This record gives sequence, C-alpha cells and structure tokens, in this order.
Amino acid sequence: MDPVGVAAAPPEAGPGPAWRSKCPWGAPNTTSISCSLADVMSEQLAKELQLEEENAAFPEVVAVAEGPFITGENVDTSSDLMLAQMLQMEFDREYDAQLRREEKKINGDSKVSISFENYRKVHPYDSDSSEDEVDWQDTRHDPYRADKPTTTPRKGFIGKGKDITTKHDEVVCGRKNTARMENFAPEFQVGDGIGMDLKLSNQVFNALKQHAYSEERRSARLHEKKEHSTAEKAVDPKTRLLLYKMVNSGMLETITGCISTGKESVVFHAYGGKSATEDKVIPPECAIKVFKTTLNEFKNRDKYIKDDYRFKDRFSKLNPRKIIRMWAEKEMHNLTRMQNAGIPCPQVVILKKHVLVMSFIGQDQVPAPKLKDVTLSSEDMKKAYYQVLNMMQQLYKECNLVHADLSEYNMLWHDGKVWLIDVSQSVEPTHPHGLEFLFRDCRNVSQFFQKGGVAEALNERELFNAVSGFNITADNEVDFQEEIEALEKMNEDHVQNHGKKLSMFSSDGDPPIYDE
Ligand code: ADP
Ligand code: MN
Repeated sequence: MDPVGVAAAPPEAGPGPAWRSKCPWGAPNTTSISCSLADVMSEQLAKELQLEEENAAFPEVVAVAEGPFITGENVDTSSDLMLAQMLQMEFDREYDAQLRREEKKINGDSKVSISFENYRKVHPYDSDSSEDEVDWQDTRHDPYRADKPTTTPRKGFIGKGKDITTKHDEVVCGRKNTARMENFAPEFQVGDGIGMDLKLSNQVFNALKQHAYSEERRSARLHEKKEHSTAEKAVDPKTRLLLYKMVNSGMLETITGCISTGKESVVFHAYGGKSATEDKVIPPECAIKVFKTTLNEFKNRDKYIKDDYRFKDRFSKLNPRKIIRMWAEKEMHNLTRMQNAGIPCPQVVILKKHVLVMSFIGQDQVPAPKLKDVTLSSEDMKKAYYQVLNMMQQLYKECNLVHADLSEYNMLWHDGKVWLIDVSQSVEPTHPHGLEFLFRDCRNVSQFFQKGGVAEALNERELFNAVSGFNITADNEVDFQEEIEALEKMNEDHVQNHGKKLSMFSSDGDPPIYDE
C-alpha cells in the first residue's frame, strides 16, 4: 500500500506562543515545581523530575522492609506531571519519525537535499532508553500508513521534490493535523474525523491536543480516586505508558481489562495487533502480566532468586526496580524453556521491563478456569493427573526446572488439557532449596488429585521420586524431608568445594549422581 501522502514541509504543530505561556496540563499541585511548558521542556528539569520520581518510588534499598513504595498519595502530583511529559515525549517521537519519513521522501534521489533537522523535537526523556532490553519502539506502527483509505489526500502531495509545499499551506497542514489526532491517547474520542478529509487549523489542532492531554490527566485522577486498592497500584504512570505504547505501536489492538490482581502481579487481557516484523505473529488474544512495582511482596521471594545461580552475579548489584524486572525476565526464560519442551503454557510475546506479554489461555476474554475452579469428570480428572505427572517430569528433566509454586491455582484447564502458568519463581533443581520446592509441589499435586478421586495418584513421596529420579525410601514425611535437605546440603558443599553445581542427572536420564 502507498503511504499516505502528507505535507512535504515540516508542520507547525508544536506549541504555539499562545499556550507556551501557560501550563498545558493545568497547574500542578506541587509547590516546588514551576511548570511552564518551557520549563517542562527543559532538559535539566526533566532529569530532575525523573530522579525525583525514581527516588520517590524507590527511596533506598534498605527501605525495602517498610511500607509500599508507591502509596499513591505522595507521588501523585509529580506522576501526573510525568505522565503528561511522557505523553509529550511519545508525541514528539512520532512527530520526528514522521519528519524523517517526509525528509526521505522529499529528498529521494535528488542532488540537493533538504534537512529537517531543526524541526526535530526529541524530548529529553527520550535520550535514556538504553536500558530497554527489547527495542520495539523503532519498528513502531506507522500511524500515517494508509490502512484507512479515506485519509489519503488527493494526488499532488505525494512524492517529488518539486512538490514541496510550505508549512503555511493550510490544506496540507490541516489534513496532517487531522491525521495526527490519531496520536492522542487511546481513550480520547476523536470521533470519525480521521476518516474524513478534515482540515484542522493549527490553532484548533493545538486546542484539541491540549484538551486531549487534560482529559487524560483528569480521567487518570478520577481513576486513582475511584480505585485505591487493586490494579491501579501496579499500574503506575510508567507502566501505563508502557502499555499505552504497546497499543500505540499497533502490537496490541486493545487492552480490554484486568483478569487478575495478585499480590505480586496484575494480569490484563488484550487483543493482539500486528507485529512490526514479518517473522513474529502476535496471538489474537494476549495476557499482559505486570509485575508489581511495589516491593513488599517481592522481598519475601528473595530466596528464590538470590540463590538461583543463573542470577547470582547480577543480584547483588541490582536496585529493587531491576530486581522486579528480573522476575519478569525469569518468567519469560522459564516459559520459553517449557515451550521448547512442548509443555502447554503461555507463549511469550514480548518482555518490556516489568511487563510480560504472552498468549492468552482462554477465549473471548474469558480466561481458562484454574484447576481448583473447574469440575472435571472422573475421566478428565484422571487424564489431567497423568498429564500433570508427565509435565512435572518434563519440567524437571527437559527444562531443568522445578515449578516451585505448583498447585491447582496455577494450572488452567483449557482445550481438554492442563496448562501450566506462573513460573516466575521457578528454579533449577540444584537451587539450594530446589528439592524442597519440588517436594512441596508434589504434596500439592498429590493431595489435589487424591481428593479429586484419582485412585492412581501417587502420594507425595512417590511422586517426588518419580519426578526427580531419586530413590528416597523414607516412609514418613519427616524423614523424607530430612533426606531431601541432606541432598541439598551435599550439593551446596560440592559447590563450595568445587565452585560448581553437581550434575543432577547423568546423560542418559538416569537418577541424579551425587557422588562425593
Ligand atoms: P500471580 O503471581 O499473581 O498468581 P499468575 O501468573 O498466576 O500470577 O496470574 C494470575 C492469574 O491470571 C492466573 O491465575 C490466571 O487466572 C490469569 N492468567 C495469568 N496468565 C494467563 C494467561 N496467559 N492466560 C489466561 N489467564 C492468565
Ligand atoms: Mn498464580
């Protein structure tokens, strides 16, 4: 498809002098920060705000023990401001991308080239995106692409260098302004003006833009008031922006709502959009797991990750925010391992900081029920049991993982089979507590299926041996547990002495070798 032909000259869509003088986002509630647009745009202030915001969110590593990091009240005002700034940043980025396209189009292979450099806007916030692991921003959805055929202006605006029109060309500029309305926040109703050959004057456009921002801000406020407790806590302005970008880039079509609010994460449902790259297909329905940026719950889980040698080197150097990202990263890696082994589980779509997008298990926005909530026929129950036994073995032997939170709460029933989810805390069997975690998993599984009437279900000790390949003979829980801990200690000693882990299994999949 042909790209929509938009004006050749750089559009004057930036803030005009009329509203440069007053704050476009209204008066902020803070007393310390003056907020003229010029100030907001100043790099230094941006940096200060960024610092301030981060300090408010993560005061000190040692402060982890006390209280939530984002309590709402104390960071509210600066968050509003930051949100607005980040929206501006987003706007600027798209504006620049468009400039680049226009510049390229105009220059074509002409000998004299015109630079739009001076018209670029890149916002100070933008300069620090180096920590983004996955760079999907560069392949973003092009809002000008002619997938809405009616927006295409008449012939004459496209192409050739001689057709350059000035920025004062009312018609061109007006159409462009109309097209740019698409850049407003997803909730902002722009009506169907985009589909018409509307020509907005810069003045009108700016007024609309300003309105869009204040609306966004207002609704965010209302929302915060309304919902003190649940989802909003995890979805701080930064997270909201991340989600917003995913929709804005076209990767996600819409985020429909929240499926689950847990202690450590909030899960949303979304309809998948178009992938920027050909080779990747976005599932029609996605689950977005947002790891909470409040750390109280996570500190309890230190032992899972701190002792996981895969993350050992990194753990000590990390700040709390990075540790949360690590949980998300861990879930991604673990899901990938499981996917490779053919275990039914969500498929990873993308990881962006503490936000993990994966395929949705369920249909039409309805998540598959947890095993604890579904009533299965005795036949299905038995089938589910053998499948779970199988998956535990696969997880252990092929993925080299112990789920570590396996129970009827983290198994979904979908398509006539069991799907495993929630693997951010999963560890390798050689983790200092790995075998204890495995034993606990076995206890949950065994109890659930025994209560569910599966006569064949092994007891927890038999299940442990069947999954791990060990042959612990203790016939009671206490002795069994003791042997498990002895094995773990042996492994730790080996690590101390030899600087590396024992191999948990020999190459042919026989029981693990714990030679001294
Ligand atoms: P938590 O650590 O909060 O328990 P989970 O990964 O278990 O996080 O997700 C919480 C809930 O969200 C799950 O119990 C499940 O109902 C739902 N959920 C999570 N991931 C998916 C998914 N990929 N598809 C459908 N539902 C999901
Ligand atoms: Mn869970």
